[in-house]
Amino acid sequence: MNYVEVSNLSKRFGQNTVFEGINLTIKQGEFVTLLGPSGCGKSTLLRCIAGLNDVDNGNIIVKGEDITHAAPQTRGIGMVFQSYALFPNMTVWDNIAFGLKMQKVSAADLKQQVDKVIELVELNGREQYYPHQLSGGQRQRVALARALVVKPRILLLDEPLSALDARIRKHLREQIRTIQKEMNLTTIFVTHDQEEALTMSDRIFLMNKGEIVQSGTAEEIYTQPASEFVASFMGNYN
Ligand code: ADP
Ligand code: MG
Repeated sequence: MNYVEVSNLSKRFGQNTVFEGINLTIKQGEFVTLLGPSGCGKSTLLRCIAGLNDVDNGNIIVKGEDITHAAPQTRGIGMVFQSYALFPNMTVWDNIAFGLKMQKVSAADLKQQVDKVIELVELNGREQYYPHQLSGGQRQRVALARALVVKPRILLLDEPLSALDARIRKHLREQIRTIQKEMNLTTIFVTHDQEEALTMSDRIFLMNKGEIVQSGTAEEIYTQPASEFVASFMGNYN
């Protein structure tokens, strides 16, 4: 059974059609990547799934439930963006606890769950730091912890590594994958970086100009490009 089903999804801003008739399915625990050049519609598609953009047509089903028009906070989605979007005047611990506090969980559960994700993203010892005292990589780990602490059904990651330098990026790639597998967390990762997509994904949806032009495993996309666009985008001229 599919965990996520996006059917016939269309989105425009005024006269500008971003995409039309998008279809994709994702299995539970799968790590899929939306890959494509800047402006092809990756973020907009992700934001539609998160409920941050409304859709013009089509459906989004999660675990058999139609969430196409559900309020964002009821969708069971955790999201991390390229820019950290942390609360600058809150400590690491309070940033991470914020979403759970809104759910009014007991103080004991709050502490237990926040401490657990802090462990998971290896921020032990940094609980009382403020965002400005952290490196870029550490801030993204706070953002990740904040998304994970509410136990989302789906994790959405929009270019979370793009602002980081190469060495940290590589480490965080592995860390995200390890955590995602451990939690069996269904994840949609957005990137314009071919190497990131090839090394991280169970499956890749390659997009161009608002269309999914090919989907498959990294190996399939890399070794059997379905078009000249795919071949050239993946850097695979033979
Ligand atoms: P990507 O994430 O692949 O770089 P986006 O989804 O951000 O692409 O953008 C796809 C298209 O939608 C672009 O043409 C962009 O200008 C347009 N777009 C995105 N968000 C908005 C918005 N809020 N208002 C108007 N146009 C938008
Ligand atoms: Mg984007």
